[in-house]
Amino acid sequence: MQPVQEIYPLLSGPARRIVITTHQKPDADAMGSSLALKQLLIQLGHSVTVISPTNWAGWVNWMSGTDEVLDFEADRNACLEVIAEAEWIFCLDYNHFARTKAMEQPLREKEAIKILIDHHQEPDSPAFTYGISDTRKSSTCEMIYDFIVESGHADKINLTMAECIYAGLVGDTGSFRFPSAHEGVHRIVAELKAKGLSHTSIHENLFDNFLENRLRFIGHVLMNRMEIFYEYNTALIVIPKSDLLRFRIRTGDTEGLVNYPQSIQGIKLVALVIDRDEERKWSFRSKGDFDCNKFARKYFNGGGHFAASGGHSADSLDQTVRRFKEVLKENEALLK
Ligand code: 5GP
Ligand code: MN
Repeated sequence: MQPVQEIYPLLSGPARRIVITTHQKPDADAMGSSLALKQLLIQLGHSVTVISPTNWAGWVNWMSGTDEVLDFEADRNACLEVIAEAEWIFCLDYNHFARTKAMEQPLREKEAIKILIDHHQEPDSPAFTYGISDTRKSSTCEMIYDFIVESGHADKINLTMAECIYAGLVGDTGSFRFPSAHEGVHRIVAELKAKGLSHTSIHENLFDNFLENRLRFIGHVLMNRMEIFYEYNTALIVIPKSDLLRFRIRTGDTEGLVNYPQSIQGIKLVALVIDRDEERKWSFRSKGDFDCNKFARKYFNGGGHFAASGGHSADSLDQTVRRFKEVLKENEALLK
């Protein structure tokens, strides 16, 4: 993988057919970075399509351009045609093509210039032509901001781009509370505010945009589906499929649920598992010195960041929960 800076001179060159891809179930950072980059590249005269591997949460639909994003699962043939024509493929907010689900094979096989911009640990660098992978960055949106400024296009950041970038900063820093919200992040926010950004509207769009059933669901889950293991300073939430059906849970409704148990004094690790149709999906969050990335990688086919990671299992819900409880014992010393 060559340094991403080598692509800067090419940005102002001849028009290219460009595809921007991101990880499955894109969150505010994934969608925000993709749409902000798209708006830059369009201004530079390129033709650009954003493809998401799957559908996404309704609470990112306010971002300018979501109505033109293609969903690979829903519209496979159209997406394959666009990928076949692409000269450049940007890969945002993921470190490995496996994070794009059914798009993995087509993306791997396609001969094109592939550009990685990401902040997850242990990227599959040889798979990309150019790129930057920096785990110190709060979000891919921060990296897209840097990309735009460093490549000499700061003047092209308009209000809708500022809104997309801000959403990713908010999403990935837990509204600026995680250690990743370093000084530079706040400086970027100041620059975005200077573009006319109304930060209050973005917070409302992201967090005050759910239906009643989602709040009832959270109440039910915290009351009935959360177990605390004080001997391991760990909280576990297990969500069976019947709960998802009962509360008519949609993509994105479970976002943020994993953060609630962190408010309990002394909790170091929170684990959440959801019984999805195709797999059991794990989320992990930690405080202090417990490495969630390592944990997800070692036991649950996953990865992510030090304090936030995820994984998945093909086992039944009962089996994967049993496995979790076993590995909790193995990790006792790390959780003290
Ligand atoms: P979340 O719990 O919000 O789904 O994910 C937290 C972090 O872990 C995100 O940065 C996400 O990219 C990463 N992550 C989630 N699931 C997986 C997975 O199955 N594999 C890998 N490698 N990373 C994951
Ligand atoms: Mn991210």
